[in-house]
Amino acid sequence: MHDAIAIRREGDRIHVALSDGGEVSAPAVILATGATYHRLGVPELEDLVGAGVFYGGPASEAPTTVDEDVYVVGGANSAGQAALHLAEYARRVTLAVRAESLEKGMSHYLVRQVEGVPNITVRLGTEVVGGGGGGDGWLERLVLRSGGDGATETVAADELFLMIGARPNTDWLPAELARGDDGFVRTGADVERDGSWPLERSPFSLETSMPGVFAAGDVRHGSMNRVASAVGEGSIAIRLVHELFAAEQPQPRDRV
Ligand SMILES: Cc1cc2nc3c(=O)[nH]c(=O)nc-3n(C[C@H](O)[C@H](O)[C@H](O)COP(=O)(O)OP(=O)(O)OC[C@H]3O[C@@H](n4cnc5c(N)ncnc54)[C@H](O)[C@@H]3O)c2cc1C
Repeated sequence: MHDAIAIRREGDRIHVALSDGGEVSAPAVILATGATYHRLGVPELEDLVGAGVFYGGPASEAPTTVDEDVYVVGGANSAGQAALHLAEYARRVTLAVRAESLEKGMSHYLVRQVEGVPNITVRLGTEVVGGGGGGDGWLERLVLRSGGDGATETVAADELFLMIGARPNTDWLPAELARGDDGFVRTGADVERDGSWPLERSPFSLETSMPGVFAAGDVRHGSMNRVASAVGEGSIAIRLVHELFAAEQPQPRDRV
């Protein structure tokens, strides 16, 4: 049970330094160190995580929100994209933003799109400070507080998506292991595009800019932030490691 604290490639082996002073090495490594999510800190809503309250985007939940009143909390691009996606299904999507303007945290093009969708309501200067479930144990209501006068209001809500940020557990990685501005590890086509891929062969789809090092799950840039997708990417990464080993096997020479 040690933390990985450093990683480097030497020749055809990758060395991982551990917090107890030890080191392990292997011809391939899969990074699956996840992310640390910012929490809302409202106990009655934390109790409903998975029962109408979700951290991260509505990856698989969106189609289940037909005819529902859905809330998204957050003011960055991810929140805007989640609201747009949910609006294709839900009756009404409310985007609750703590800041006094959407432009503060969201790209201009996304602000225009969000404002153009009739079933999205944007509530600026608004925080979720409470809530609770119904008899079925599923989210039923939220308590919202508006910044201006600090007044609280209880509203009906069927689902709450919390897009309030996550920090990837990547502080220990070296600069040569390419990451996006948000710190999440880039893989596959992304590292070819950004010029960080050092070899002639193309990277495998989950391979990072350090050849032989793969990334799976929340730590990966573009991850779906769901248990099922993290598990799926983990198994794909294992498969890709086998493909890498097979490709690097010396080919038998033709007999003459
Ligand atoms: C409150 C909450 C509720 C959620 N609810 C749902 C839900 O209902 N459904 C759903 O599908 N998803 C949910 N998610 C998202 C889901 O938990 C993640 O998508 C999933 O756990 C990602 O798996 P992972 O293996 O990539 O990362 P993680 O599960 O975060 O695992 C990463 C592991 O790596 C360890 N680690 C980190 N750094 C190091 C290091 N340097 N050395 C060694 N070990 C390290 C961490 O301690 C951790 O054990 C929720 C997330 C949160 C925060």
